Amino acid sequence: MDNCIFCKIIKGEIPSSKIYEDDDVLAILDISQATHGHTLVISKAHYPNFLSTPKEIMHKVMDVAQRIGQVEIAVLGAKGVNILTNVGEEAGQTIMHYHVHVVPRYTRDAGFQITLKENAVDKSLLPALANKIKEKL
Ligand code: 5GP
Ligand code: ZN
Repeated sequence: MDNCIFCKIIKGEIPSSKIYEDDDVLAILDISQATHGHTLVISKAHYPNFLSTPKEIMHKVMDVAQRIGQVEIAVLGAKGVNILTNVGEEAGQTIMHYHVHVVPRYTRDAGFQITLKENAVDKSLLPALANKIKEKL
């Protein structure tokens, strides 16, 4: 894709701090380090997001994300790691090329916080909601 920042990084047209590369996957440090070691694991082929990426490639990216999480805990002294992928602008995706964030965590709050706040919903509606999703799986 001509106007895609990650495609340009993969082609070497934009410099990056690479930490892993194979035929299908590239991992680089995120330019804006949410925490020390914040990494992006990117499919080399351009797919818009996690949901639209063929399973085999999606899994390869996840395999690398798992390994990087393990290594960052071992070598950076991180106590934990958040693995996340945004799908769509509403979910915070800014670069429409499939990638997974690996965010090492040293303390609960520094740099990055995920808070899933409970919405006031009628819990009696949950079985019908579960069925609606389940029927299409
Ligand atoms: P998203 O918001 O789409 O899930 O994540 C995109 C990420 O790409 C952001 O965290 C942003 O900091 C990172 N990013 C944007 N441009 C560049 C760049 O040129 N180089 C690197 N290494 N990261 C970038
Ligand atoms: Zn791209």
